Amino acid sequence: MTTTLLRSVRRVPLDGEPAEPVDVVLADGRIAAIGVGLDPSGAAVEQCDGRWLAPGLWDEHTHFEQWAQTALRVDTAGTTDPAEACRRVAEHIATLTRSDDSVVVGFGHRMSSWSRMPVTAELDAVSGAHPVVLMAGDAHSGWLNTAAQRAYGVSFDGICTEADWFALMPRVGDDPHQLAQARLRRIRELFALGVVGLVDLVMDDHLGPWQRLAAEGVMLPRVDVGVFPSTLDEVIAAGLRTGDPLPGGDGLLRMGSLKIIADGSLSSLTAGVRDTHGDVHGHFAYTLAELVSLQTRARSHGLTVATHAIGDACLSQVLDAYEASRATGTIEHAQLVDRSDIPRILRHGLPLSVQPWHLVDDWRAMDELWADRCADAFPFRSLLDAGVTLRLGSDAPVAPLDPWRAMAAAVHRNTPDLASWHPEERITGAEAFRASVRTRVAVGQPADVILLDANPLEPESDSAANAQHLLDAKVSGTYVAGAPRL
Ligand SMILES: [Zn+2]
Repeated sequence: MTTTLLRSVRRVPLDGEPAEPVDVVLADGRIAAIGVGLDPSGAAVEQCDGRWLAPGLWDEHTHFEQWAQTALRVDTAGTTDPAEACRRVAEHIATLTRSDDSVVVGFGHRMSSWSRMPVTAELDAVSGAHPVVLMAGDAHSGWLNTAAQRAYGVSFDGICTEADWFALMPRVGDDPHQLAQARLRRIRELFALGVVGLVDLVMDDHLGPWQRLAAEGVMLPRVDVGVFPSTLDEVIAAGLRTGDPLPGGDGLLRMGSLKIIADGSLSSLTAGVRDTHGDVHGHFAYTLAELVSLQTRARSHGLTVATHAIGDACLSQVLDAYEASRATGTIEHAQLVDRSDIPRILRHGLPLSVQPWHLVDDWRAMDELWADRCADAFPFRSLLDAGVTLRLGSDAPVAPLDPWRAMAAAVHRNTPDLASWHPEERITGAEAFRASVRTRVAVGQPADVILLDANPLEPESDSAANAQHLLDAKVSGTYVAGAPRL
């Protein structure tokens, strides 16, 4: 294994590191030495000329295969009604030959941004014989034309949601060669952003593409591979426990958590929320007893649990479940938090795995749907102040797989051109960065580091400018276990 000496780097001050340039030695996958004027003998020397060094970034919640697939899809993001989505489908279909019978797949629209519900006939009217499946950007619903319903042997008018949709979604396939290319492109994008690790939550195929990619010799990031209840038995039968290295992964691929989706989503109007009268609305995928039993089964086989809870009522139920099952793991999303639950989150030591960019996509919908509850939506400041651990992610493909966006959205709580949404819950750049890494630039730590042209935490005039500065960050080197990836 090569030893690398990074000559003259400044450390990004995550914990008040001094700004003086130092040399950093990467050897045997670890940070072996930090000092001034280190001896380069035996090392490949990279002249860094005062560039900034930081721990590599993690995205703590992704669906990588679907993220790769979106690179191949008709983009319906930002549409405001079904007719606009139909126009984009029509434009795409105009580019196809009549004999091309592959499924046209669109992705990205938000049901909550559409002025009305869609009907099958209007999609039929623009698609002719081509099967069309339009996936909502939150991945909780889909809209199929008649040809697609026939192709998949399903039948409904309007949209397909939740359990029906989760059963159908994995069957919507892509051209294997194009998809293979898209995966490689997406991996290169990761390294260009300084991403060294992902939590990947994989539906159906618990090995996902990762072990196959490793077998093909593709340079990979670290991946904690999570599974859904549908493949839990397979994982248990294989004797895999959370943290175990996956065969063939060269130490980079590890078994992750069991993912349990306990409620719906905000934009599909299915999150499990409590209204101001205390009444509970939304889609609950499991009873409390079922949740406890799933979590207990995972715990007793050495698996941690990542439980999806978007609404506050669902979060309360999920906390009840963790209390009863004594499972460990994370809560995913936590978009609306009842403040009386914060001590319970702390008591169980459950990190919240949150996706700040959802705030940018959803604040208008939250203002409308959760009107007087919005002070409790994504309450990052309150959670950190209470001592809760936050882990940032994207939930790609729901939001782009880009930790800089996640950090910027946590810092300004909107895009930099717009006013901060509930600014009292903003967090600092250093806090957002610490919630996006798993390591530090310190001797003995994994050599998962990135080089940056500027200090991304340089204080600017206000939170909008701080967020813009994060979005402008330019990564010029990415190392995973000491090996260059960029
Ligand atoms: Zn997800």
